[in-house]
Amino acid sequence: MSRFLNRQYESLEPYTPGEQPKTEGLIKLNTNENPYGPSPKVLEVLNQTEISKLMLYPDPEVSVLVQAIADYYQLETEQVMVGNGSDEILAFSFMAFQNENRDIYFPEPSYGFYKVYGDIFRAKCHPIPLKEDLSIDTKKYKNLQGTIIIANPGAPTGIALNLADIEDILKSNGSNLVIIDEAYIDFGAKSCVPFLQKYDNLLVVQTFSKSRSLAGARVGFAMGSRELISDLNRIKFSFNPYNLNRLSILAAAEAIKDDAYFQKTREAIIRTRQEIAEQMRALGFTVLPSSANFIFAKSDRLSGKEYFDGLRKRKILVRHFEKDPVSDFVRITIGKEDDMKELLNITRELLEAKDSKDLLERTEV
Ligand SMILES: *Cc1c(COP(=O)(O)O)cnc(C)c1O
Repeated sequence: MSRFLNRQYESLEPYTPGEQPKTEGLIKLNTNENPYGPSPKVLEVLNQTEISKLMLYPDPEVSVLVQAIADYYQLETEQVMVGNGSDEILAFSFMAFQNENRDIYFPEPSYGFYKVYGDIFRAKCHPIPLKEDLSIDTKKYKNLQGTIIIANPGAPTGIALNLADIEDILKSNGSNLVIIDEAYIDFGAKSCVPFLQKYDNLLVVQTFSKSRSLAGARVGFAMGSRELISDLNRIKFSFNPYNLNRLSILAAAEAIKDDAYFQKTREAIIRTRQEIAEQMRALGFTVLPSSANFIFAKSDRLSGKEYFDGLRKRKILVRHFEKDPVSDFVRITIGKEDDMKELLNITRELLEAKDSKDLLERTEV
């Protein structure tokens, strides 16, 4: 820490991203990337001609992409804004709507960035514990005094909310902003975008990182009332008007237009998820009902840490959160079928190794 750091940030605890391994040969199931890669249309559009235009600034309005998203969701272009990943959209939202006099409510555990942004933009955070079954306790979100932010499907559980429950939250919080983070919405849950017609306190945030296979391009977007979107643009144009680079704009616009590829890859991930969940349950795992591109699972035989470490040694990377009430779980991204077969094989070996170790210990006693 230098002597120049703003005192306000001395105790700031930054977000911990999942590991991006530098070595080859690992099966990477730890950061919910899409195993299928971007649409072939994306590969086509990122050509020499476009690369040779990189000396030019990108369109600060990002019109091509905003239009493509508005078309997809049948919204006005004034109801859409894009950001450098949905993380940036979330940061702009906190900048625009939070301060020391407006608190923020979110489930705990949830996406780690909510607390980090709360801290950096000086909003008092109120984490609301999950229910015993790790679903969100929607009753606790009625008539609050501050902004509400909820991931649907939930992170890191993958559990989806009912639209009726979200609508109740919107209705009972008419004077509060409600942000629904739909990073995983395309893997089986229902979007609350249609509620934008009725509720001006709703902001929906989505990303191209998961269902559109563009995590490396950094593209996220917000949908809301014209007024909310104009507030976000006020921040964006005061902070980083060229927030999306030329190539990412083109890539994302092609990705959202290629519906056939989107449907095919999304369905493959959903199918693989259902298979792996079933097979893990057969091995004695508790697997939460997931509507995302990952499963959240715990073994009755291995602790979360043991399972994580065992997989890591065998070159499979998953995510483990060292905090209650989820420390016994690991989060496993849905990869290609072969990767999931390997995961299952190694999981069986780890369970067998644990069994024989236990047996040995018992005979020693
Ligand atoms: C992945 C993720 C994001 C961030 O996505 P980017 O668009 O890559 O910044 C936001 N919220 C949740 C819940 C996520 O899982």
